[in-house]
Amino acid sequence: MISIIKMPTEINSSFISGTSKAPPIIKNEFNSEATNKFSENGVDLEGMDNWVDLENLNIEDQDKAFQLIKNVIQNELTNDKYCISIGGDHSITYPIISAYGQIFPKMNIVHFDAHPDLYENFDDNPFSHASPFARIMENDLARSLTQIGIRTMNDHQQDQAIRYGVNVITMAQFSNDLKLKFVDPVYISIDLDGLDPAYAPGVSHPEPGGLSTREVIDIISNIDGKIIGADIVEYNPDRDINNITAVTAAKLLKELMGKIIK
Ligand code: MN
Ligand code: MN
Repeated sequence: MISIIKMPTEINSSFISGTSKAPPIIKNEFNSEATNKFSENGVDLEGMDNWVDLENLNIEDQDKAFQLIKNVIQNELTNDKYCISIGGDHSITYPIISAYGQIFPKMNIVHFDAHPDLYENFDDNPFSHASPFARIMENDLARSLTQIGIRTMNDHQQDQAIRYGVNVITMAQFSNDLKLKFVDPVYISIDLDGLDPAYAPGVSHPEPGGLSTREVIDIISNIDGKIIGADIVEYNPDRDINNITAVTAAKLLKELMGKIIK
């Protein structure tokens, strides 16, 4: 069983706001009658036999958001539900993984992003959306971290990647036949700016030269391993064009659900 959790966060964004408005818009596109609810691997997501939809998380006090997120995820996991979180900014992945780590101490993380998000501290905020994977790795919450689509690596984050043994697959190194195999469970974190802005313009930090929607879907469907949860983050409706990024996020949500259920 999957829980879809909508997380309207943005205070840990470093550049512009907007991501807190994202979750209901993605869900609307998921439910749009413009398409059906079959994932490409043939799972029918119509009805809610295999998943439940939680209310938009009520984050009144953004300063307490991390504790609230951790509690909600923990609660779902102890009720045998795998969580797919719809963000919000990328900072949410740290509290999510903190909760996951208590139940899945040997988890692998596959992370799509233009950015490594490994800053020790960004703009004097160690919980910035530019830092979640530094927090995750320093707290030893993942067995491995594989980053795909990276195209903004700088010296500091390169040092961090080496320090934490991160498997960085830069966009320059990326090849279409990438097939990932894991013995232990896998968590997938999708920052929508990992896709090229041609496919996902509605993000706060567009970085040309990225992945296509097709490539992201194929990488996910080709993962050999048990998927235990995921997040889709950094959708910024203020920057979107004709909701195409929300439609793309909804498509990725369907594919993640189909992959987990099948
Ligand atoms: Mn990013
Ligand atoms: Mn990110």
